[in-house]
Amino acid sequence: MLTHRFKQCPLCDASVDAAELAKVADVSSHPSYKPELPTTIRWLRCRSCAHVFTDSYRSEVGDRILFSSALPHQVPDTRQSEHQRNLWAPTVRRVIRCLTEKREDVDLLRRKGGRQPRWADIGFGSGGLLMTADEFGFASLGVDARPEAVKRLQALGYEAVCTAFEALTLDEPLDVLSMADVLEHMPAPRAALDKVRSMLAPDGLFYISCPNSETSTWRLWEQSNSNPYWAEIEHYHNFSLTKLVELLEAHGLRAIDYYVSARYFSCMEVIARREG
Ligand SMILES: [Zn+2]
Repeated sequence: MLTHRFKQCPLCDASVDAAELAKVADVSSHPSYKPELPTTIRWLRCRSCAHVFTDSYRSEVGDRILFSSALPHQVPDTRQSEHQRNLWAPTVRRVIRCLTEKREDVDLLRRKGGRQPRWADIGFGSGGLLMTADEFGFASLGVDARPEAVKRLQALGYEAVCTAFEALTLDEPLDVLSMADVLEHMPAPRAALDKVRSMLAPDGLFYISCPNSETSTWRLWEQSNSNPYWAEIEHYHNFSLTKLVELLEAHGLRAIDYYVSARYFSCMEVIARREG
């Protein structure tokens, strides 16, 4: 079996029988599409919480088929590394600013005798964020489900492990955990956020980016029936900022910073702090 059906809304547990059909999208021309996989995605809107999600998610077998190859932006690559560095530097700066609001001992330029703050990037793909965080002085760890991406990062001397986030175990708590365009790929975002919180040190930061369905771009796309995210084969959720902040806060992660992501169209970046 390549896919499993959601029986309940992944955010509020309301039965999918009560959800309305939001969209049916043809994914057969998506660059990651494989002929074994279904050609269409059905998007549902929960009548209880208004969350928009796909009616099914891939099984392990389905994931193996989809992840059997990687697109150029999903692995580290010389042609894009300088662009990635410039793209991610403002994000890393904002994370540092938020981190030092509570942590006076963090001095990334003068680390002698001090401990380097730990940053794990989940689903690092091209490695741009992780490598930039490393450059700014974090002790960095990359986690990705694509073996090719992990192999390439390790060959560059960075610490990287090949595993699904759900199976990740760490010895020490993290100062920063990042998920750049990852949560919308996870069938169970609430369980993932529980795990995020448990892996963070007190006052540790969670950086998340994903498409935001409350932007001007999104509205214009909808008006012209040209929203590319409906046919995004890897996504299971369309989050809005409102929904994302609600979700983070329900998991003890207080949103403290918002910004527009320069990485993808209609994308948002939120930094949240672990409470308690
Ligand atoms: Zn719901």
